[in-house]
Amino acid sequence: MEKRKRIVVIGGSAAGPKAAAKARRIDNNAEVTILQKEGDLSMASCGYPYYIGGYFDDRNMLICTPTGVVRNPQFYLNAKDIAAKVNTEVTAIDRKLRTVSFRNTLTGETGEMAYDKLILATGSVPRMPPIPGVELEGITTLQSMKDADFLRKVRDEGKIKKAAVIGGGLIGIETCEALHLAGIEITVIELLPQLLMFLDWELAKLVENHVRSQGANVITENGIAAFLGENGKLTGVKLQNGTELLCELAVVAIGVRPNVKLAQACGIEIGETGGIKVDPYMQTSDPDIYAVGDCVETLHRISGKKVLAPYGDLANLQGRVAGENAASENCVTFPGTIQTGICKVFDYAAGATGLSETTARRLGYDHIVTVINASPDKPGFMEGKLIVTKLVADGTTGKILGAQCVGPGNVNRQIAQWAMAILGGLTVEDFVNADLPYAPPFSLAIDHGVASAHILQNKMKGRMKGISCAEVHRKVTSGESPFLLDVRQPEEFEQMRLGIGETLMPLGALRRRLNEMPQDKEKEIICYCKISLRGYEAAIVLEGNGWKNVKVMEGGVMAWPYPREK
Ligand SMILES: Cc1cc2nc3c(=O)[nH]c(=O)nc-3n(C[C@H](O)[C@H](O)[C@H](O)COP(=O)(O)OP(=O)(O)OC[C@H]3O[C@@H](n4cnc5c(N)ncnc54)[C@H](O)[C@@H]3O)c2cc1C
Repeated sequence: MEKRKRIVVIGGSAAGPKAAAKARRIDNNAEVTILQKEGDLSMASCGYPYYIGGYFDDRNMLICTPTGVVRNPQFYLNAKDIAAKVNTEVTAIDRKLRTVSFRNTLTGETGEMAYDKLILATGSVPRMPPIPGVELEGITTLQSMKDADFLRKVRDEGKIKKAAVIGGGLIGIETCEALHLAGIEITVIELLPQLLMFLDWELAKLVENHVRSQGANVITENGIAAFLGENGKLTGVKLQNGTELLCELAVVAIGVRPNVKLAQACGIEIGETGGIKVDPYMQTSDPDIYAVGDCVETLHRISGKKVLAPYGDLANLQGRVAGENAASENCVTFPGTIQTGICKVFDYAAGATGLSETTARRLGYDHIVTVINASPDKPGFMEGKLIVTKLVADGTTGKILGAQCVGPGNVNRQIAQWAMAILGGLTVEDFVNADLPYAPPFSLAIDHGVASAHILQNKMKGRMKGISCAEVHRKVTSGESPFLLDVRQPEEFEQMRLGIGETLMPLGALRRRLNEMPQDKEKEIICYCKISLRGYEAAIVLEGNGWKNVKVMEGGVMAWPYPREK
């Protein structure tokens, strides 16, 4: 009888089970085993914030199939003929003998298992700040099911009144919302000048404004210096500027690092980023060992550099590749990431794909063009909701490099379409005539994304001179005095206005009132409206009448990230 191939997978959350299931589908005869340290399998970690926030109450929903079957060892055995050992921590890998040693975390029992192919899916570990007080009771991360259970208990008990979330990244922001929904007063503390570093500053600021508007506190540009406590329990946090905040709970969410302990100990090559080095087959420096998910470093498809990309979708895609290759010959590859991500921020979503302006500049792109577009995602009569997009393209080739989108509207669709545009190597010119699905319940006739490309095309052809809100703010605060023209209706102006010395002149009246405009035709004039569509038309009217230095403030009032007069 043909010898059965022994495929052993270490790690049983996202990437591991996906690899095991794919290996089983490819080789029906293989012996497939998952060794999982925790007591649960296939946990939907991305769902933890929503369990804590009370979107659903049944913990099993985090570990069950779409049809409601809990993915426990019995399920793996019956449905997939995979032996899944839980509470089983792999303690060492012997690459010469091709064995792994493991220990039962409940009983302490140890054992060994031989493999022909090994797949490492050991995930990541949360970073902890090296500051006094980290051992106090009341400090947690949100990385494991145990953490989720703890924070859900906090919600259910309802005793905690104040909490601090350390770190304003994706997990920090989702945790902020979850705890806020649990009735806890939250302060998010971020060392950097902005939340959500995958966004450029001006879009991150819109997100921050929204978080504050929901009642959460946000402190930026101030790190944590110490956790304060009494009798072993957390009572507060001290910030680097000396401020002390009272809190009984702190959730540390300052990022994760790849869990490479086992790989490192057995001499598998680790990359410069700190993740396990893999080739496109997800094969490590040892041909019998593959690695997938948060523990590896991944090729960035635009920059060509290795990056850490701890995302659930990539973990599954990589798991599928490694499972197939381990079960057969190396035959499928994983091409890399463009770091597409999205997160829910109360009633907003915030997403990004490809390069932000900041990252593009850091990577040395010296001729990039950007645009900010704000508009509803569908018509007003279908209750369209605002979305604000920033598009980044290579000014020389026109290639789309990145897109970011925030707002209460359908951010997900925008980011998904830009991700495919980037993967397909599309240019702004290609996207201006994109044939996307349209009907009023779903989008505008000219989709928000297509309109963003139109504006960028106008800018690239010199038909529109755009200026960012940040640049306008800089000009106003540094004492420059451009003529600021708000072309909305008086009612709109009454409801909401910037109060930066602007003149109100509705677009419909502009042609009649040109005599009220600066008589110096060289004077810098900056036009805007709610989303700067009328602002653009006003600029065309002014240019047509001889004014030479007319700009449009991109995204209009809706993209203004600074405090407004009204
Ligand atoms: C709160 C939260 C929200 C998130 N939201 C999103 C999101 O919205 N979108 C998104 O794309 N990503 C999100 N992520 C990230 C996503 O969950 C991870 O990228 C994904 O889980 C990585 O899968 P993995 O299998 O590589 O690692 P993990 O899911 O971390 O699993 C690794 C497993 O290996 C086990 N293990 C480790 N060492 C050993 C050992 N020695 N022996 C045996 N077992 C071991 C661990 O116990 C763990 O269960 C979120 C993560 C968290 C924590």
